[in-house]
Amino acid sequence: MKRLLALFCAFALLSCATGPSKEQQLVSKAVGALGGAQAIADIRTISYKGNQKQWEPEQSDVPGGEMRFANEAQIEGMADVQARVSRTDWVKNFAYPAPRTFTYSEIVTADAGYVIGVDSNGRNAESMKANPPAHSMSGYRLATSQREGRRGNISSLLLAMLFNPEQVTPAADIQGHPAVSYQGLIVAFDPQTGLPARVRSLDYDNVWGDVNWDLVLSDWKQVGPIKVAMNRKVELNGRVVTDFTFTDLKFNQALDAKRLAIPPEVRAGAAKPATGNVPYQWVIRRQYIGTYLDSDNVSYDTKGSPGLRLQEIAPGVNHVVGGSHNSMIVEMSDFLVIFDAPVTDGQSAWVMKTVKEKFPGKPVRWVVLTHHHMDHTGGVRAMLGDGGTLVVGAPARAHFQKVLAAPMTRNPDLSPRSFAAIQIMEVTQSHVITDSRGRQVMMYVMDNPHAKGMMMGWVPDAKLGYVTDIWTPGPPLPAKPNPGLMAVVNTVKAAGLQPERFAGGHGATADYASLTRLAGQ
Ligand SMILES: [Zn+2]
Repeated sequence: MKRLLALFCAFALLSCATGPSKEQQLVSKAVGALGGAQAIADIRTISYKGNQKQWEPEQSDVPGGEMRFANEAQIEGMADVQARVSRTDWVKNFAYPAPRTFTYSEIVTADAGYVIGVDSNGRNAESMKANPPAHSMSGYRLATSQREGRRGNISSLLLAMLFNPEQVTPAADIQGHPAVSYQGLIVAFDPQTGLPARVRSLDYDNVWGDVNWDLVLSDWKQVGPIKVAMNRKVELNGRVVTDFTFTDLKFNQALDAKRLAIPPEVRAGAAKPATGNVPYQWVIRRQYIGTYLDSDNVSYDTKGSPGLRLQEIAPGVNHVVGGSHNSMIVEMSDFLVIFDAPVTDGQSAWVMKTVKEKFPGKPVRWVVLTHHHMDHTGGVRAMLGDGGTLVVGAPARAHFQKVLAAPMTRNPDLSPRSFAAIQIMEVTQSHVITDSRGRQVMMYVMDNPHAKGMMMGWVPDAKLGYVTDIWTPGPPLPAKPNPGLMAVVNTVKAAGLQPERFAGGHGATADYASLTRLAGQ
C-alpha cells in the first residue's frame, strides 16, 4: 500500500498543473481530517460491537402516524477490509409484529452471501431445507448488504474516492453542506471539520416514491490511527429509522478465517450480487421487522414457488396466490373490485395484465385496501392504472392523498404519472359496491389491534370474507384466540354476517367455523 500511495502522490502532483477540483479538495480534506490516507490504508481488519434500534414508519398503527418501534439488537462484527469479507453476528429482539428474538449471522463476500440461523418469519425454501437452518443470500440481499457496507466503512469509501478522482462528480449541497457524488452514493461534508457528515442514496420506496436514504455520522472519536463516527443514524426522508452506537471498536486484530468462510457447496449455488434495479428499501426494511423473504423476486420465493397465479375460490372470485402476499379479485357485471395491492407495482402489473386477459373489457373500478401497511399497499399505483377509486378505512384518506402526490420518478415498475385525478373514498363504518345485476361486495371497518381503519371484505353471494394480517386462513390456528382473531369474530357478529369461508391477504382460504370454534373456547 505504501507504494500505491507514492504512486498516487506523483499523480496528484502532476494534476496540480490544473489544480484539484472543488470535489477533489473536499475528499482530500476529509481524508486528512480522518487521519490521512496512509493511516486509513493501514487498517486491514475491523472488529466491533454495537447496539442498534430500528423503527418502521410504514407499519404504524395510525396511517401516517408515529413510527412503529421495530427491534433492538446487539451486534458483533468483523471485517477483512482488503479481502472484502465481513461477518455480522446478531441478537435481534423484535417488538413488532410480535415479540421474538432472532440470533443469526451474516457473512458477506464480494461474490456470495450467507445467513446462518433463522433471521425471518418469512423463511425461504433453502432455509427450511437446511438443518441447522442456513441459506445463501439472494442477489438482491447481497447487493444491498454490499452497498450498506461500503456506506458504513466511510474511511475506506473516502480513500477509494481519493484514488479514483475521475469518478468523483459534483453534487448539490445537502443542508448547507458541500457534497460530492461517487458510485451511487452522495457524501456531504461538515464545512468546519471537513469530516464526512452524511452519506445519501436516492432510493425508491414502494409507499413514498422517491426518497432520500441517509447515513448520518456523528460523535467522532479517535480510535487508533483514525477518527471514527461512533454514532450512526439512518434517516428515511429526514426521519430517524436506525440508531447505531459502537460500544467497542478495534483495528488490525487477528480474525478467525473459519468464521468468515462460506461453505463451498453453499458458495457454488449462491447468487451473485444483483445489478440494475435492486429493491434496496424492501430488502432493508423488511429486515427491520423480521419478515424479509430472501429471494430474487420480491413477490415470491424463487426457490420455493413457481410464481404468482390466480385461483378461483368462488364463482367470480379469484385469489392471487403463490407469493408472500395475496389480493382478492371480485368480478362484477362490468367491472372488477380488487382487495389489497401488495408488495410492489411489479406485482400489481402482473395482476393487472392477468385480469385484462381473463376479464376483457372489465376495468378495475375499485381498489380496496384492508389497511395502510407498506407490504399490502406498495403496489397501489399500478392497481389504479384503470383510473379506479381507491377505498380506504377512516382515517387513511389524508395519508393516501400525500402518498399519491409524492414524486415517483425512480419507480422501476411504472413510468411517472399523475394520480391527481384518483378519487379516494374513506369508509367510516361500512360500504357496499353493487353492480347492474345486483352482485354486492362489502367492506367493514374493524375495531382491531393491528391498524386504525383496517377493513374486512365480504362477498355476500359467496358467503366469503377477506381478512389480512390479523388472521391468516390456512395454517393451523393458535391454541388460544388472540385479539386479532377476536376482532374478526366480533366484526362478523356486529355486522350480522354468516360466513362459510375466509380468504386471506396471507395464506389461503379456511372455513370460518374453525375460527368460531376457537373463539367459543
Ligand atoms: Zn399489516
